[in-house]
Amino acid sequence: MREKSNFAEKMKKHLQKRKQKDVSNVNYLNLPKGLDVFRVDEDVKKLKIDILLYKVTDKNHPDADFNEGVAVENSLWYRRPIDIHQGVGINNLSFVCPSMFGKKCPICEYRKKRIDEGADKEEFKKYYPQHRSIYLIIPRAFYSKSNDRWESYKEDHLYIWNMSNKNFQDELEAALEDSPENYSFACYKGGKTLVLSLKWEKLGKTTFPVVKHIEFVDREDYDENVADKLPSLDNIFNIPSYDELKAKFFEIDDTEVNENVEPVEDDEIVAPAITRLTKSVEYESVEPKKMVRNIKVDEDEDEDALPFVKDENEPPFAKPTKVETKGKCPFGFKFGDYGKHDECDSDCDVWEECIKFKKRSK
Ligand SMILES: [Zn+2]
Repeated sequence: MREKSNFAEKMKKHLQKRKQKDVSNVNYLNLPKGLDVFRVDEDVKKLKIDILLYKVTDKNHPDADFNEGVAVENSLWYRRPIDIHQGVGINNLSFVCPSMFGKKCPICEYRKKRIDEGADKEEFKKYYPQHRSIYLIIPRAFYSKSNDRWESYKEDHLYIWNMSNKNFQDELEAALEDSPENYSFACYKGGKTLVLSLKWEKLGKTTFPVVKHIEFVDREDYDENVADKLPSLDNIFNIPSYDELKAKFFEIDDTEVNENVEPVEDDEIVAPAITRLTKSVEYESVEPKKMVRNIKVDEDEDEDALPFVKDENEPPFAKPTKVETKGKCPFGFKFGDYGKHDECDSDCDVWEECIKFKKRSK
């Protein structure tokens, strides 16, 4: 009997830990204690979240615009973009693309090499990193199918939200373009709560939420002083060394395990691990998770720290302009140079034409 209960206890702990490890972190994140990835139950069809600004610590933030003071060091910004290579190695791991940090990336190098060698897009497209964004959020409420009503989260807890751009950021940009009055949604004062409509999609055994629609509603102000207490989103990544990533990457190609690995066709292989389970895991109450709201609004506050509220007519971030082209690269590179530039990823609108041109001119 004793043995049985001991074993049951061990099994319980083992499964709890495995589950926590599985869902609360992905291997490329190195989060400070007390800060976890937010997960949504599959039953949830609507979600209210507050996105908070964080202080940029990266001199070369991917969104940085030095002329406009956007996402420059020590300014406040609302997201950290990150490029992730997925499905790497026998264990199907995900890694930060080191080129985001000015370092050489063996996977991107390999992709360029294969493109030069005339490889098929089906082969090389899986070597593109997935574009994701990370946000600091406070979940406010959720609407579940089973209960058919809004339920509030009990406390103001700070989480990381880690989403592929395709599944959230693109919709956010579209929603902001439609309603420029909401550009300052992430500001401590005068910010907005985002009401997200979710659609659950499936890939293999995993399901993940896609944000289909966003509405903005007024929220209570947060204390601006909280900015200094919040973690930076720029230094929460494990950046693999060139050799480490190369070893992991070629682990597959050398042993021909390829066939058994799910293709990275849809870029959502990582997301389910982050979002598919319920919210209800106990989190330690460590500063700065608990937020202090300050409902007093001081109209004369200095807005200099918020680079994007100065001109309400300007979007807070530049969106690449889609250019109608025939035989012309929308990014100004030589037409037919497909795969030679970072911009030649799957978002490029003319890649098919460009590849054909390249093949014709060989
Ligand atoms: Zn890369």
